Amino acid sequence: PPAQPAHKRILLKLSGEALMGDDAFGINRATIVRMVEEVAEVVHMGVQVAVVIGGGNIFRGVSTGSVGMDRATADYMGMLATVMNALALSDAMQKQGLVPRVMSAIAIEQVVEPYVRPKALQYLEEGKVVIFAAGTGNPFFTTDTAAALRGAEIGAEMVLKATKVDGVYSADPQKDPSAKRYTRISFDEAMQQNLGIMDATAFALCRDQKLPIKVFSIFKNGALKRVVLGEDEGTLVYA
Ligand code: UDP
Repeated sequence: PPAQPAHKRILLKLSGEALMGDDAFGINRATIVRMVEEVAEVVHMGVQVAVVIGGGNIFRGVSTGSVGMDRATADYMGMLATVMNALALSDAMQKQGLVPRVMSAIAIEQVVEPYVRPKALQYLEEGKVVIFAAGTGNPFFTTDTAAALRGAEIGAEMVLKATKVDGVYSADPQKDPSAKRYTRISFDEAMQQNLGIMDATAFALCRDQKLPIKVFSIFKNGALKRVVLGEDEGTLVYA
């Protein structure tokens, strides 16, 4: 029989930068298609998948492009950037045969529907992929925090933080060949060792809610599937 997933409902955090591929900015179609293929694999295993998408490939509140700007205004621009990414992701998912639903934390209803928690839960139960756009809807936050927040709200078993590196290392693996990947590490240990897993607000929320975080690479073939199967992949941050 096919392997059974260890997790029924997950929250996947994709950074905006993951959509860039090797481009300098914006959205790289081939990259997004590859990512969606990985997601489709676990959806077809019956896992309920919600995605929080970042916006850093287009605009960040704290970036050179926003120097001199009011921080809150720049952050609203960043949130709108995530809506663009959500539309691109949704389009690619649809073409892949998935049924995506974008829900925005900022009212922009001619473009995407607003976030309504019971509706998001219903979509997940129906096997649709929910894409949460516009972060938390508030300036001074990040999409990492949105991932922790939505993850807790929908009762996800785990927040999957997709990065370029396949886990959390004792040192930068590109600079230090003796760097070791942690298979698992507790929230307290990660904090003591100052490992920047998610920003402080996101990290604190996951820790308080005892919502585990898995750091893994979305660009490693089959890694997402192995995470969902509960295999040794990436790094688990646990309470
Ligand atoms: N942002 C915000 N509130 C949120 C989420 C995001 O103000 O709840 C803004 C913030 O300016 C941020 C930008 O949106 O820099 C893009 O999000 P983020 O930097 O988290 O994207 P990522 O790094 O994941 O690509």
